[in-house]
Amino acid sequence: MVVAVAAWSTPALAGPGVTATHARHGLRCGTDHATATPVAPPLWHAPGVQRVVYLNRFGATFQIMGSTTNSATNVVSTSVASPRTAVIPPLESGFDWPGIAECVTAAFAPYDIRVVEIEPPPDTVYIEAVVGGDGTELGFGADDLFGIAATNNVCALTEAGVAFNFSETHRGVPERDAELCATIAHEVGHLLALEHETLDTDLMSYVLFADTNSKSFVDADSTCGVRPGGDIACRCSAGTTNSAMRLRSFVGPRATETNLPSIELQSPSSNGQVTPLFDVEVLATDGEGMADVLVFLDGVVVGIDARPEGDVYRVTVNGAEVGGHMLAVVARDLAGNTARLEVPITVELLDDGEACDAANQCAGGVCATNAGQNFCTQICDPAAAVCDDGFECVAAGDTHLCAAEAGGCCSTGRRSPSDLGALGLLILIVGLKISQPRRRRDLTRAR
Ligand SMILES: [Zn+2]
Repeated sequence: MVVAVAAWSTPALAGPGVTATHARHGLRCGTDHATATPVAPPLWHAPGVQRVVYLNRFGATFQIMGSTTNSATNVVSTSVASPRTAVIPPLESGFDWPGIAECVTAAFAPYDIRVVEIEPPPDTVYIEAVVGGDGTELGFGADDLFGIAATNNVCALTEAGVAFNFSETHRGVPERDAELCATIAHEVGHLLALEHETLDTDLMSYVLFADTNSKSFVDADSTCGVRPGGDIACRCSAGTTNSAMRLRSFVGPRATETNLPSIELQSPSSNGQVTPLFDVEVLATDGEGMADVLVFLDGVVVGIDARPEGDVYRVTVNGAEVGGHMLAVVARDLAGNTARLEVPITVELLDDGEACDAANQCAGGVCATNAGQNFCTQICDPAAAVCDDGFECVAAGDTHLCAAEAGGCCSTGRRSPSDLGALGLLILIVGLKISQPRRRRDLTRAR
């Protein structure tokens, strides 16, 4: 059995920050308006699935080609750059990321959008805001742009759009955390049918946060352009535009009820013992509609599920370190109300012979399978007595494994002990059949 492992990772932010300083450049956003085609805003918003914005500060590789952007496949249209492979590095240190993420979340809080920091499943539709790099990855100069959005049409929703936000070009800017937040909201705004405004306090203008100390999607008519006095004709509407009104129209207002979801942790139990690979099961309901369930380990988000089976949400955690942890689960409803539970758990490895799904669960570093039964084991030297009592060292492909004496053995899913605890484990089940005669050995445990 090959284990389907839900990807989760929260890489540490990389090394010391670059101490770049640079003069403020006039151009802030490279999003293409030239090809925009007006689209009539919906007269009312039909309630549907809440839109998701994924804030990705972990870096990513995009293929720039064609005319359609798809965040799930990392394909970005040539509206942002000439065809190329763009490798966006992770966000460097020196930024207040929790504050920035909270700021972006607050900017969109009035609208039917939720912000996540874990990549949604690839078969879902979501907007991705990549945060990292300086623009050279897309072929721009290092100080040319704060950001650029890959829109299919800036006057309409780009449901699977990608917004690039060049954190390094913010490094020498006043109030850089607030400015980076403003850039992210601005570029995501383009994916949500917003064009530039002259209103200085609106997120869709080029006026710096430090020059206004207030940035939001302002519910007021504004001429189009990028700063006060620079009026140009609006492309998406006649006369003036209004970012808040367009968001209400295209995206819809967020529900405003204040009843908390109910939440119950079904597995693991409080003070429960789990392996480095374990499932978290949460029963969560809300009278007005659930959004998702988040799972945190020691305060770090490690998983998310927005597609329950009935009312049960399930997240597979992989790579948890051996030892004690605090597991927290958070249910969020569509209005943004949250309910949280926190329990202590202990991560332990399995002994030889215990049932396993993956090698990193096993103290011996090997999860082998025989006749459809998976079990933990270890590599052994047939010339030395290393297997536990009741196990013998038998050939398994090109190696030897400790196997229960009564059973046949083995095909292997093996991994190097040095990989223990690593994330993104690849388990190889080679499916070899072993036909050698069994050898009885005196067995002592030695590992
Ligand atoms: Zn822009």
